[in-house]
Amino acid sequence: MQLVDTHAHLFADEFRDDLPEVVTRAKESGVEQIVLPNIDDGTVEPLLQVSSAYAGYCFPLIGLHPTSVGRDYAQRLSRVRHCLEASDAFIGIGEIGLDYYWDDTFRQEQLLVFKEQLHWAAERGWPVSVHSRNAFDDLCKVMAACSGSMPLRGVFHSFSGTAEEAARLLSFEGFCLGINGIATFKKTALPEALREVPLARIVLETDAPYLSPVPFRGRRNESACLPHILIKVSEIYGLPPEEVAAQTTANAKVVFGL
Ligand SMILES: [Zn+2]
Repeated sequence: MQLVDTHAHLFADEFRDDLPEVVTRAKESGVEQIVLPNIDDGTVEPLLQVSSAYAGYCFPLIGLHPTSVGRDYAQRLSRVRHCLEASDAFIGIGEIGLDYYWDDTFRQEQLLVFKEQLHWAAERGWPVSVHSRNAFDDLCKVMAACSGSMPLRGVFHSFSGTAEEAARLLSFEGFCLGINGIATFKKTALPEALREVPLARIVLETDAPYLSPVPFRGRRNESACLPHILIKVSEIYGLPPEEVAAQTTANAKVVFGL
């Protein structure tokens, strides 16, 4: 069984002591490629170190995460842009988006930074990995405004919304929903929300080191946990895990050009 973890932060401090073992376990559990979305200007160096140590296995995205957008956004965005131009390792833009949950002081700045980075992706024909929390209406507004005029594709990462929200997001052609450990949580509404979502429009992700699936909740997440998410998604769709693995892996390869 071949899987792609479409969202993992293996360059995070949490993996500093045992990354080789983490990667070995990922390979042993069938994960054949891992997409690493950047966080901000401070994480590009470890991101590129990990991507080059595991070239052909770990694929980096470059971008400025909305939770790192503050008063100094212009400088940080320009540093990230500089990193983008200084390396040919990147395969897409991420993670980018809107997050009004942790702090919504800088909404206007977040909107500006998000749109700018969508332009970066469109200019290059690259995919985007989109983060959104408590910002659904603004997300859809920006996407509607931009997707009409530029060729965009990518993943709405960590989807945990309703069936209506899923339908709205899937109205953006070329986009998939990223499904992670939230699907395994007791209180999740995802089985209901995914009822009308074709398997061709979802990809699997861990969001490691965060959001460990049941039965590992509260512990550090890693790419080797991806099969637990696969099993849950298979139950939701009532299909054999092999079929869900094959389809979601194919989706991930198309969207990220792997
Ligand atoms: Zn992330």
